[in-house]
Amino acid sequence: MKRIFIVLLIFILSLFTACAKPKQSKVSVEPQAVQETAPVPAPLDPKIEKLNRVLMSMTDRCKEAIPNGDPNEFLADLEKVLQIEKAFPSDDLSLYYLIDKTHKVSADYEPTHLRKLVQNNDYIINKSTLALREDAADALAEMGRAAKRDGITLDVSSTYRSYETQERTFNYWVSVDGLEEAERESARPGTSQHQLGAAVDFGNIEDSYALTDGCKWLNAHSQEYGWSLSFPQGYEDITGYRWECWHFRYIGIEACKFQKKWFSDIQQFMFEFIDAWKNMD
Ligand SMILES: [Zn+2]
Repeated sequence: MKRIFIVLLIFILSLFTACAKPKQSKVSVEPQAVQETAPVPAPLDPKIEKLNRVLMSMTDRCKEAIPNGDPNEFLADLEKVLQIEKAFPSDDLSLYYLIDKTHKVSADYEPTHLRKLVQNNDYIINKSTLALREDAADALAEMGRAAKRDGITLDVSSTYRSYETQERTFNYWVSVDGLEEAERESARPGTSQHQLGAAVDFGNIEDSYALTDGCKWLNAHSQEYGWSLSFPQGYEDITGYRWECWHFRYIGIEACKFQKKWFSDIQQFMFEFIDAWKNMD
């Protein structure tokens, strides 16, 4: 896949330049002459102009991850993803909420609609204290049923964690591995996708899970059900965490497609972009 953000940018800039130049010349030419001889410049599409500004604000790694393409196609895909977001529960954080080492939630945040997971026919639960946002719980059940049809039983080991639970988890890993190593694999309280109630750790929560049929199935099919691998191999400098083959976040099917098509399949890049898009005028 060719990361030709540059080509995309050149295209956008060429549009910008094509539209901007006549405007500049207009200033220095007699007004009447301009009206008779100069072509009327096409107005710059404000969304293309905004896209340009947002892309310029992204990190170099993110820019490089965005493949060459038609900005209008990109914007149409973005619009689809944002339209779907409008149907998310309005009394809770968006499923697209950017949370990472620098974007946090408060200590008292907990999902509005948490559902306790119970033993069921769709997947195995490894603990009795598991819970997810309702939309994520429904999507997990659907994915579990699909896996079963392929002869795979998914096992769910960790789901929603409160701020306090995350604090205990992080402190535990610091005591086992030391601070530096713990930071690579465990989130500080307030920065974990698990506090959003939309993330699941599958299997034994170890690298060896990658060798299991369950993990292989997830890698091949999770996005068909809206689940995205959060911390892929080779992106620790981007996500803040080392490869976690067991950790998936529910973001919805359309966002998974958007991530795959325009962000080199890196969830962090997509959410950084969406966050920047929302915060740019
Ligand atoms: Zn996790």
